[in-house]
Amino acid sequence: MHDVTQKLLDHVVKVDPHQPEFIQAVTSFLASIDNLVDDLPQIVYHKVLDRLVEPERVIMFRVPWIDDDGQLQINRGYRIQMNSAIGPYKGGLRLHPSVNLSILKFLAFEQTFKNSLTGLAMGGGKGGSDFNPKGKSDNEVMRFCQSFMTELSRHIGEDTDVPAGDIGVGGREIGYLYGQYRRMNNKSVGILTGKGPSFGGSYIRPEATGYGLVYLSAAILESKGKSFEGKTCLVSGSGNVAQYTVEKLLHMGAKVATLSDSSGVLIDESGIDEKKLAYVKTLKNVRRGRIAEYAQQFKEAVYIPHNGSEDSNPLWEVKADYAFPCATQNEINLKDAQHLVANGVQLVGEGANMPSTLEADAFFKESGILHVPGKASNAGGVAVSGLEMAQNSQRLQWTPQQVDQQLQQIMKNIFVSINSAAEKYSTKDNYVDGANIAGFLKVSEAMIAQGYV
Ligand code: NDP
Repeated sequence: MHDVTQKLLDHVVKVDPHQPEFIQAVTSFLASIDNLVDDLPQIVYHKVLDRLVEPERVIMFRVPWIDDDGQLQINRGYRIQMNSAIGPYKGGLRLHPSVNLSILKFLAFEQTFKNSLTGLAMGGGKGGSDFNPKGKSDNEVMRFCQSFMTELSRHIGEDTDVPAGDIGVGGREIGYLYGQYRRMNNKSVGILTGKGPSFGGSYIRPEATGYGLVYLSAAILESKGKSFEGKTCLVSGSGNVAQYTVEKLLHMGAKVATLSDSSGVLIDESGIDEKKLAYVKTLKNVRRGRIAEYAQQFKEAVYIPHNGSEDSNPLWEVKADYAFPCATQNEINLKDAQHLVANGVQLVGEGANMPSTLEADAFFKESGILHVPGKASNAGGVAVSGLEMAQNSQRLQWTPQQVDQQLQQIMKNIFVSINSAAEKYSTKDNYVDGANIAGFLKVSEAMIAQGYV
């Protein structure tokens, strides 16, 4: 590693030793930027990298709420306002018991480059809470969201910071959060994206991350003379991103053999078709059930529960052509990566953020498969969030076809920019470097132009 990047990484490890996910994201990013340091001395002179790893602001707050038994519960809320050089902070809110500063800082850091890649004017942010929505009643979720927004509302605004959904935050939660903001501020403005279409939401926002992942992957495959037609795909997770990834894969003529949740893995070698996908949507989004129930409903499927002590995930051992991790960070370790490559997988498109460990990343690179990092391949979600902001400013609502067309164009543009950055500054087809570099260059230029802030 270059002296400059090594010193900065040592500094990050020294000041935040207990933030492994953040350190991992910074390590991966700096490895890609390494090549640029000598060619672009202004980056060093203006300390752009040093400023990038320090959030502009971290907000941490108490979230008190009353459960259905009348007991007071306290959770911790966060908003990381990472970088606003190219636009208002933008990034999702995550509700999951694992949420902590390290996870949110890694997500906000990656978001900065992802948002830059979309070509829209959005800075990077992320937030959430260690609140676990699983097993809570609608009223409990509503009371939590109202309390969370009561504090968050003073830190956000349509030109300042515009949060959205992430793990554990879908249409229900965004609705409750938005309702509380509107009630407190007596204003109907686009301070959140992912809203319902009846109150300012954009069509195609729920679909956007999964659809965008498949659009970008299709562009990459097309550049190699390949397609999805008749190919077998692995998808992990069964939430928002997984569901719409499966939907678009089916539109493209692929066969999908897997899904999962945090309790276990579902393998359906006969293929998850439209009818089975509709079942999954109702199961997960309406009944808030577990993916295990799928195997009771469709007897041809096999369900393998996690026992907590596995050193690899059986989902990644299924023979397939392409793989789409859509659950969470670090869900593919070295062993999983080895299984994928040994089984003939030729493309890994990341729907989740940072789903591959550093060791898995390195193995994908060594094996020469097509590896598309989350900050490029899942950027469709935030891109349509950006389009929702534009619609809110105009007080207009575009048709689903108009939004989908723009999403497709944005994902094609992302392919062009990560592909050419890889060729110019790294090696052909190294989309990890391409995404880091292309995302970084625009942010860096904006930071230098705006002086030392
Ligand atoms: P959802 O909450 O809708 O779904 C998450 C899915 O992942 C669920 O199936 C969940 O299982 C599973 N999961 C969550 N945590 C774990 C874990 N620790 N171990 C195993 N499985 C887990 O979230 P999304 O689909 O929105 O998000 C999935 C990924 O995509 C995340 O990495 C997110 O950051 C990323 N992403 C999401 C975007 C969006 O627009 N929503 C945009 C860009 C990226 P269970 O039900 O058991 O919890």
